[in-house]
Amino acid sequence: MNIGVVGTGYVGLVTGACFAEFGVNVTAVDKDEVKIGALQKGKVPFYEPGLEEMVGRNMKEGRLTFTADMKTAVENSLVLLIAVGTPSGDGGAADLSYVREVALGVARHMNGYKVVVTKSTVPMGTGAMIRRLIEERQARPIPFSVVSNPEFLREGSAIEDFMRPNRIVIGAEDPQAVAIVRDLYNPLYLIETPIVVTNVVSAEMIKYASNAFLATKVSFINEIANLCEAVGADVHEVARGMGLDNRIGRKFLHPGPGFGGSCFPKDTRAILNMAKEAGVPARVIEAVVEANDRQAGRMVEKIARAVGGLKGRKLGVLGIAFKPNTSDVRESPAVRVIQEVVRAGGRVRAYDPAAMDEARRALPGVEFADDAYDAAAGCDALVIATEWNQFRNLDWERMKAVLRAPVVVDLRNVYEPAPMKALGIAYVGVGR
Ligand code: NAD
Repeated sequence: MNIGVVGTGYVGLVTGACFAEFGVNVTAVDKDEVKIGALQKGKVPFYEPGLEEMVGRNMKEGRLTFTADMKTAVENSLVLLIAVGTPSGDGGAADLSYVREVALGVARHMNGYKVVVTKSTVPMGTGAMIRRLIEERQARPIPFSVVSNPEFLREGSAIEDFMRPNRIVIGAEDPQAVAIVRDLYNPLYLIETPIVVTNVVSAEMIKYASNAFLATKVSFINEIANLCEAVGADVHEVARGMGLDNRIGRKFLHPGPGFGGSCFPKDTRAILNMAKEAGVPARVIEAVVEANDRQAGRMVEKIARAVGGLKGRKLGVLGIAFKPNTSDVRESPAVRVIQEVVRAGGRVRAYDPAAMDEARRALPGVEFADDAYDAAAGCDALVIATEWNQFRNLDWERMKAVLRAPVVVDLRNVYEPAPMKALGIAYVGVGR
């Protein structure tokens, strides 16, 4: 089968490379010609484990090609997967301008039956909007199908998530489109991945409801962690004791500086916007977003208490990406914490294993270091903001020697309080 993937960001590039790996012929198209130029040379413009190798292999074997020309992609493909960004727009609503551009491009170049699939996270009703747009703009009536196939991969483990998903959701209005998209995922069907077939609007809703629910777990455990601090409980013990109940589950019960990244913040805002437009109260999600908005500030207060006020203090910060194994700093809680520290008169010396270029753009005025020890050099405290594996086994004698004071604020609870205290470190975690 020949398919086109429109947008070569985190989702589009992983999707394109993985389908090529399944033996599908993939034309990946992006309007960013610089990006396409780099990809044509086999360079992946962001960090995602294993992706560059997979892209290179499939390019060499001729199943994955890159172009900036939408016409080529549309004409050569039976299925077009839309994987462009849907960032926050006015009032938190998803900005659908990129999706609209793609729909118009498909309408313009359509040369036969196509299945137009949204992989991007799009508001309920977007499938219907795409159908209307294409019908209005086609030069002559050519049949096509619209499908919602939301993506659930996580940056940092995107290939594994794509190759072993918990489920595949196919929202469609006609059996032919379902059969074609099912066929595309046949290798996953063979490993018994559940496939949820539903209508387009329910599929669109599944994605937002899933992300809002996961965000709820994060804000919930963060509130419990705050309460643990007040009453002297240990949130790790509490989360373990809760999570062993199958009805609750252990995942997403890690307290920290709040959720960030390119999905949860924008998707919770977008679903709130949709609820408002529909006139339906969504108090739980409202509270989840509010609690998250306050969480970075709480972390900054924690840091300020540990060093006796931020004015004139210098902090070494480890981790800037919104989570480990990615270079993505979009809405990263680490970035928010650093910005608030700087606003309060503190200075920051930061290090991230993969996100230094992105961090330099996001954080002008911050000093950057070459490694974890260099970040700590001459600082009044060390702050662990993102739990990269390489921060899990730091040499604390060396760290104490370079820090001005042995103060560690661990926003990810990477370390255990008692052994840290035994090392002579003034250690502060979250919720314990
Ligand atoms: P991204 O910003 O990394 O990439 C989007 C790409 O689309 C960019 O390269 C951009 O140049 C390109 N683009 C924009 N308009 C275009 C057009 N008209 N024609 C061709 N290319 C165009 O975005 P992303 O993180 O991959 O997210 C894409 C979508 O997937 C979003 O809706 C997001 O919510 C959803 N999603 C993301 C993740 C994630 O972890 N990043 C996970 C699941 C779902």
